[in-house]
Amino acid sequence: MKRKSRKQLRRRQAILLVIIVALVGMIWSKYELISSWVSAELTVSPNKNTAMQPQRYKIVIDAGHGGKDPGADGASGKRERAYTLALSKKVFDLLKQEPMFEVYMTRTDDTFVDLEDRIKLANDLNAEAFISIHGNTYADSNVSGTETYYYADDSIPFASKVHEYLVKATGFKDRGVRKEHLKVLTQSNNLAILLEVGFLTNRSDETNMLSDRHQDRTATAIVKGIKEYFADRERLDK
Ligand SMILES: [Zn+2]
Repeated sequence: MKRKSRKQLRRRQAILLVIIVALVGMIWSKYELISSWVSAELTVSPNKNTAMQPQRYKIVIDAGHGGKDPGADGASGKRERAYTLALSKKVFDLLKQEPMFEVYMTRTDDTFVDLEDRIKLANDLNAEAFISIHGNTYADSNVSGTETYYYADDSIPFASKVHEYLVKATGFKDRGVRKEHLKVLTQSNNLAILLEVGFLTNRSDETNMLSDRHQDRTATAIVKGIKEYFADRERLDK
């Protein structure tokens, strides 16, 4: 009897041990679940914070031509490369004051930059927008006005917004927003437009375009257009 009861006791002890081990296991797995929830919460929170920060848009301003590529011959004999650089610098300076933008230029002096390198800069940066600035040229010096070019359909709303402000500022004839197969536009991975502010071959357009006041007004308008486009897009995203 004594032996039997000892055996029974051991069996009971063994069963108890199994129950304890199972209980500990259950508690442990629950604890792991809780700690994984806690760590998930902790990893989610900083992401929420970064999402709250305002987005900074990378913008590339491209002063057309430069160096060995003088661009158009103006009515006065002045070359396009100087005009595009002067206006681009003004646009750059104004955009830099806007906290929502991070601004870059394809050239900051009178040097030659390949078209491929201009667009590569924007693509490598994964810039939101590439804006190429030019002065137009035509054999008939009577032709005048402002044109904005795009290639990819995605760029149409951006081109239209900038053009709307640009035309008002130049006071030139509105020659519209047009689709053009230009290298800097077709090879862009993101928004890309090219502004032909006015015709340097037209004496009246050129006189205006070479004046500092007209350039200031034009630069302000371009920046307004860019700003409004991105502000509208943020509103639609919300
Ligand atoms: Zn040009």
